[in-house]
Amino acid sequence: IQSVYIEVLHKLEFETDLSSGWQAGGYASLDELLKKFSNVFFTDINLYDPQAELLATSRSEIFENKLICSRMHPAAFRELAIRNSAEFVHEENIGSLRYLSAYMPFRNSDNKLLAYLNLPYFTRQRVLTMEITNLVVAFVNFYVLLITISIFIAVFVSSRITQPLRMLQSKFGEITFGKSNEKIQYDARDEIGVLVSEYNHMVDELAISAEKLVRSERESAWREMAKQIAHEIKNPLTPMKLSIQYLQRSSEEDPDKQKKNLKRITRTLIEQIDHLSAIATEFSNFAQMPRANNEEVDLEEKIRKISGLFLNTEQIEIDTSFDLVLPAIVFADQEQISRVFINLLKNAIQSIPEDREGKIAIRLETDRDVARVKVMDNGRGIPEELRDKLFQPNFTTKSSGMGMGLAIVKNIIENAGGSILYKTELGQGTTFIVELPLYADRQS
Ligand code: ADP
Repeated sequence: IQSVYIEVLHKLEFETDLSSGWQAGGYASLDELLKKFSNVFFTDINLYDPQAELLATSRSEIFENKLICSRMHPAAFRELAIRNSAEFVHEENIGSLRYLSAYMPFRNSDNKLLAYLNLPYFTRQRVLTMEITNLVVAFVNFYVLLITISIFIAVFVSSRITQPLRMLQSKFGEITFGKSNEKIQYDARDEIGVLVSEYNHMVDELAISAEKLVRSERESAWREMAKQIAHEIKNPLTPMKLSIQYLQRSSEEDPDKQKKNLKRITRTLIEQIDHLSAIATEFSNFAQMPRANNEEVDLEEKIRKISGLFLNTEQIEIDTSFDLVLPAIVFADQEQISRVFINLLKNAIQSIPEDREGKIAIRLETDRDVARVKVMDNGRGIPEELRDKLFQPNFTTKSSGMGMGLAIVKNIIENAGGSILYKTELGQGTTFIVELPLYADRQS
């Protein structure tokens, strides 16, 4: 209505009075002028005079057929003429056809009221509502699409940001002390880059620390071993020295007595020399550990053979049992495996008090991919305070023992990829459990 108002004003602004006989600028009547604007603006245009009587219309048929009264709608007149409103829009109807109708007072350049301009908007209300609904739906769709796209972009961007963090997290999780840890390649110079360079620096430091630790562990192990060897060698040397000094003195004091003592002292010396030789053999055995000549070893056969060796031991009953789903073939050194079981049996026998009837059971079973051997005795058991030291080299509770037995056993088993543990009950007995991987499983 504003646009139409401006256009009509352009034509009529200098008029002082408007009547139905108006003619000017090539227009035969006001109706013709309105028809022209009506074609341009695609809307009907009506003009009412200040007394609310129809002055001109672009669609005279409506009034001729008396579809609309030739007087202006009273509500509009009241609003514009009495209340002096600048414009008025309300709903009117022709029968059941409801439409919006807009009114504006039309004034000339001297601000004199010439007429009332009226534009009936015949598009039906329902269609209008539908159009509005369509528009809203289109907007909603557009925003939903926009939000979906933003979510995708956000997920994509955030996953790109968190990817290096996740990589860092997994690398941190993989760090192991004593193994060579992989460094991270990351070239960007951002916050993650700083973290990565810190990580790489830490990996370097860790490698240096691990190296230092290994060296110091090796050194202390050697120092310990040297101390032990010196101690073991010194032990027999003292009685040997004393015996020789005694022999020397007795030969000086009483040559007759010397002959008598010679036999005894020679025996002592030979005993001590044997002991020294045994010490040398034990240590040499321990030193030779890594040189294993691995081959297929049938544990069943081995256990039968070794238990046979101990059959005639006094007061000891050895019982063997086999529960095999698969043949108990392992990949190890024949000699070393024999030593393991001889050692465990010897320890079991030695653990049985003299006043007790010894019962030793050896049980071999296969369980999925491992062969398990249990050596059970009814001996003294192992006191709580000794349990931590059992597998340490040099640890023994026996006067004649070297304490290398279980250290060697553990070494052999671990070199063959197995494990050893024990269960014990003081005064009731001990069970050593050896587990070795089955050879068939390794091949596959
Ligand atoms: P050694 O037999 O020369 O003492 P080992 O390393 O074989 O050395 O054993 C270390 C110690 O572990 C033994 O001195 C003993 O105290 C304890 N021990 C080993 N086996 C058993 C067992 N079956 N029952 C009780 N104690 C055991």
